Amino acid sequence: MRKPHILIIPFPAQGHVIPAMELALNLAEHGCKITFVNTEFNHERVMKSLPEADSVRELVQMVSLPDGLKPSDDRDDIELLWESIFDVMPSELVALIQRINGSESEKVSCLIADVTMAWALEVAEEMGIKKAAFWPAAVALLALILEIPRLTEDGILDSDGQPMKMQSIQLSPTMPFIKPTDFHWNCAGDHKREKGVFKFFVKVIKPTKLAERLICNSSNCLESGTFASYPDFLAIGPLLASNRLGKSTGSFWQEDSGCLAWLDQQPPKSVIYVAFGSFAVFNPTRFEELALGLELTNRPFLWVVRENIVGDINNAYPTGFKERLDRRGCIVNWAPQQKVLSHPSIACFISHCGWNSTLEGISNGIPFLCWPYFGDQLFNQSYICDYLKIGLELNKDENGIIRRDEIKNKLERVLGDEGFKERVLDLQAKILISVRKGGSSHKNFEDFLSWIKD
Ligand code: UDP
Repeated sequence: MRKPHILIIPFPAQGHVIPAMELALNLAEHGCKITFVNTEFNHERVMKSLPEADSVRELVQMVSLPDGLKPSDDRDDIELLWESIFDVMPSELVALIQRINGSESEKVSCLIADVTMAWALEVAEEMGIKKAAFWPAAVALLALILEIPRLTEDGILDSDGQPMKMQSIQLSPTMPFIKPTDFHWNCAGDHKREKGVFKFFVKVIKPTKLAERLICNSSNCLESGTFASYPDFLAIGPLLASNRLGKSTGSFWQEDSGCLAWLDQQPPKSVIYVAFGSFAVFNPTRFEELALGLELTNRPFLWVVRENIVGDINNAYPTGFKERLDRRGCIVNWAPQQKVLSHPSIACFISHCGWNSTLEGISNGIPFLCWPYFGDQLFNQSYICDYLKIGLELNKDENGIIRRDEIKNKLERVLGDEGFKERVLDLQAKILISVRKGGSSHKNFEDFLSWIKD
């Protein structure tokens, strides 16, 4: 029998490409042919970072489409990127599918689009291809987006997505309250950008409804209340391919695996892992306080310092910091994060609370110190600290800076209180059960696979 051929289209950001790639690998392992569609800009970065011998190259066919921007354009300007994607990519996708379908044996049988790329489902609809949407973040936030029309109609949100009364929203009695300050369109930096992000989310609602399946990188044991209220959302996560399958998952930067050898030399449960994902940027004062805070803890640490995390990286470290480090600290440009978090030496994760980082920390039973920046990270922090109680928030001083003493004190509290460890280990056990044969995520994944193959 011919293998089903699936086209997967992630949003062009690291936190979307990695889980989409994990999905791709899981489907490929289960007998599907996969074509993975990156933007040209990201395709080049992914291919450059992918080791020559990695079997991902055989399992997944990597292709690319232009995003319509010039190489020098700022792709972190999310509105600019979105506008350009909407203008350029739909017709490019049609042409790609027509090219593939030119060969009878290759015909595309199903298209899976990130919810934020739901325009691609309209293309699939027009071309008579099966359609699924993929949500790589907390499902409570997906529910919030899809409920925007009802919330606006009921006078709970105004036309810019702001609550008419500044109070938390509970979409159903089984779901957590969502604070207006945690709405992901309210965490985009400035007000103009926030309005733009809200408008964008409104735009994805209609095409998302075309999806015949809505699969989510979350687990019933993490968001049971939301899954109970929205039975169309199918929990299939956490996907975590590089942990489960040992494959690369589409990093934009080359992973520095040397830090794993350094971790081997550290005592069990001793190391603080510090990483802020792919977007967050520090100002020099915050960067300096973090460095001094890590020094003050007197514990070994592994710190990911992306080349673009702070303006002038060469002058960003406090005087003498690197010399004083000796072997107590290890600094890398980009870590193999999933492998790091599963290393027995890791004790705590200082994280920006991106959804992937959150899932990866929990799946490895690691408690958190939360340092969110924008987007869904503030909501995820509330989940971690108030709802799941597996970490603590780092508070800013009156100037908006997280100070070195705050880092040291909160770290001592997280590591000194067995409750954080117990709760996160309990969650880890439940999550692992959910992805094994017979578990809820495993079952949903199998059902999804049967639908694809049907
Ligand atoms: N990541 C990584 N190495 C690093 C830092 C991050 O491989 O040094 C990966 C991490 O494992 C996660 C992704 O990058 O899968 C970041 O996604 P997340 O949703 O946590 O944050 P975002 O980058 O979207 O802000």
